[in-house]
Amino acid sequence: MTDLEIIVALSHEFGSEDYVKGGGGNTSVKNEETLWVKPSGTTLGGLTVDTFVAMNRDKINELYNVETPAVAAEREELVKNLMADAVENDAGRPSVEAPLHNVFEAKYVVHTHPALVNGLTCAKGGEAACRKLFPEALWVEYIDPGYTLCMEVRKRIEQYKSDKGQEPALLVLQNHGIFISADTPDEIRKLYTHFMDTLKAEYNATGVSQTMEVAEAAGDKDVTEQLNTLLGDDAAFTACSSLFNVAPGPITPDHLVYSKAFPYNGNLDAPGVEAYKTERGYAPKVVIAGECVYGLGNSQKNADLALELAQDGALVMQLTEAFGGINYMTDAQREFIENWEVESYRSKQVG
Ligand SMILES: [Zn+2]
Repeated sequence: MTDLEIIVALSHEFGSEDYVKGGGGNTSVKNEETLWVKPSGTTLGGLTVDTFVAMNRDKINELYNVETPAVAAEREELVKNLMADAVENDAGRPSVEAPLHNVFEAKYVVHTHPALVNGLTCAKGGEAACRKLFPEALWVEYIDPGYTLCMEVRKRIEQYKSDKGQEPALLVLQNHGIFISADTPDEIRKLYTHFMDTLKAEYNATGVSQTMEVAEAAGDKDVTEQLNTLLGDDAAFTACSSLFNVAPGPITPDHLVYSKAFPYNGNLDAPGVEAYKTERGYAPKVVIAGECVYGLGNSQKNADLALELAQDGALVMQLTEAFGGINYMTDAQREFIENWEVESYRSKQVG
C-alpha cells in the first residue's frame, strides 16, 4: 500500500460516527517535503487518494516564524492565505488544523472528536483524570482553534520533547478532541484502541452509561410548520427525535458549528423566537418542543447534522459525569468560534 492508500484506510476507519460527526476530524500523512492533509469541508469517510491536499512543508514551516496581526480575524485571514500558498495541487483548501498536523514528526496523524473522548475533555475533572489514566499524553487546556492553537501546541510539544526525549503520541485537547500520531498505521490503531478501552473501563467502573436512548420520531407537523413560519429558510428542513437531555451551553467547537451553542426551548411564537435571535445573533438550530427535539436547517443534511450533534453533545454531557460533570466553554471561547469565518465555510461546505 502507498502512504496515501494507508491514510485513506485510516481516515475511513476513524471516520465512523463513533469518532467524528459531520465534517469533523482530520488526517494527514507526510514525508520530508510534503504534507498530505484532509481538505476543509470534506468528511473523513469520503476521502480518496485523490482528494488529499498536498502542501509544501517548508512553506508551512514559514508560518511558525511569521509576524501576525493582533486582531483575530486579520490573523486568521493571513494564515489562511499563507496556507493556500503552500498548497501544491488543486485539491482545495487544507483543513484549518493542517499547520498543527505538520508540527508532528510522526508520519501519520489522525485527529478525531469521539464522544467517549469528549466525555473526558469536556469534564471539570478532565485534566486530572487524563494525567492519571494517560500519563504519557500531552493535555492542553482550551485554546482558540487555528493559528493560536497550533503555535501554543507546537511550544508544548517542544517542551515535551526536551523533557521526555520524544514527541507525544497522544495529544488531548480540552473541549475539543484527540490527536494520535505514529509512524505506522498499526501503531495508530493500537494507540486508539488503548485510549478508547481505558476510557470505556473508566465509564464502566463509575457506572456511567456509554449509550443514550433516543428514538426516531416523525415530529409534530404543527410544530414544524410553525418553525418554518417563524424562521423561514433557517427552518426550511427539520429532523426530529424523541426527547433527550440537550446540552444547555457550548461544549466543543464542532457542537457549536453544527448545532449552535444554545438550544431553543421557549414558546413557539414570534416574540420568543425574536428574543432568542436578538440575544444570540442567529436563529436556533436545535429546538425542544413537546415530546421531541428538532434539528433545523436550510437543507435536510444541515437539519440532520444539527440533531446529530445535539445528540452527541447530550451523550458527551452524560459521560462527563464520570469525571466531575460538564465544563462549558467560556463566552470568549464561544464567541471566537461564532465569529470564525473558516468554520462557517466548513459548515456551508459540508452541509
Ligand atoms: Zn478538531
